Amino acid sequence: MFHTEMLSAEEKDLIKAAELIKQGEVVGFPTETVYGLAGNALDPEAVAKIFAAKGRPADNPLIVHLADFSEITEYAEDIPDSAYKLAEIFCPGPITMVVKKKDIIPDITSGGLDTVGIRVPVHKTAHEFIKLCGVPIAAPSANLSGSPSPTSADHVFADMNGRIPAIIDGGYCPVGVESTVVSFEGNAVRILRPGFVSGEDIKNAGFEVLYAKGVTERIDEGERVLSPGMKYKHYAPKAEVTIVDGDLEQFTEYVKKHYKAGTYSMIFDDDVLTFPYPYITYGNTAEEHARMLFGVLREADEIGAKQVFARCPSTDGVGLAVYNRLLRAAAFRVEKL
Ligand code: AMP
Ligand code: MG
Repeated sequence: MFHTEMLSAEEKDLIKAAELIKQGEVVGFPTETVYGLAGNALDPEAVAKIFAAKGRPADNPLIVHLADFSEITEYAEDIPDSAYKLAEIFCPGPITMVVKKKDIIPDITSGGLDTVGIRVPVHKTAHEFIKLCGVPIAAPSANLSGSPSPTSADHVFADMNGRIPAIIDGGYCPVGVESTVVSFEGNAVRILRPGFVSGEDIKNAGFEVLYAKGVTERIDEGERVLSPGMKYKHYAPKAEVTIVDGDLEQFTEYVKKHYKAGTYSMIFDDDVLTFPYPYITYGNTAEEHARMLFGVLREADEIGAKQVFARCPSTDGVGLAVYNRLLRAAAFRVEKL
């Protein structure tokens, strides 16, 4: 058991956090996407502590975070030209590139795969912290495995209190959903997990874009997947979530028909004027949905929701990432009206 200390994003505290990393400990830290649980990616014991703190399945690989993309050659080999071209446009930023790993990356970090996901956060505090650590930082989202990802230091504290020595409080995460995970196939880029950098963005940068199974479909038990994280139950609050796909009128009718005590609706900000049932809102635009989604799923637990009906987001741009996370929170229950 740790007494979990809340650290600020000031340099003296970042130095303190980096010291913990150098001692082989694990620290919660903010990034532009969600909060991460940081440990030295090259130290199998530190990485084992990350898996233990989260209760994460051992075959779900960790993303390795670097202060600068140019360091990639120390940890990966056979790096395709496309990776460099993509990095020129999107790095630093919320994109993770899966490339062949060098032996220096321990198997525990890559979940036993011979590849590694590399990301360079653009968030100022994340960047400063990783630089101060002086080692590549393995970091999954800083939630307990299965819960919604944390987008504030308080969310991290709620899940990790007593499990880790410190959390750096950098305020709310500006993106709110995890990074876009991509791999390379010839000249094509395959999206393994959608994020803020969208398929449209990557296409506009001149690439052919492919989507892995799991982005919008359920992965069957025992099926081999390109991105192991996509097969797990994820982001789920305790309430039973259902995505209800229809206009506001149809949605309202649906809620009326299925209403019982403990029902809350996840609706858009613009819906509140006419919507007559208990609700929580998650913005109007795809960017707002992304920023608010995980906080709202946690809020559903806090208010004791038993059943949540969510209005279906558009799947354009970052909306696909929102839909992908919401589908998992809903265990793929979608009502098409
Ligand atoms: P999290 O760290 O919780 O954001 O989850 C990391 C995600 O990246 C998971 O969905 C992993 O499956 C995926 N990922 C990380 N490394 C790799 C890799 N080497 N190959 C495929 N997917 C990866
Ligand atoms: Mg995660």
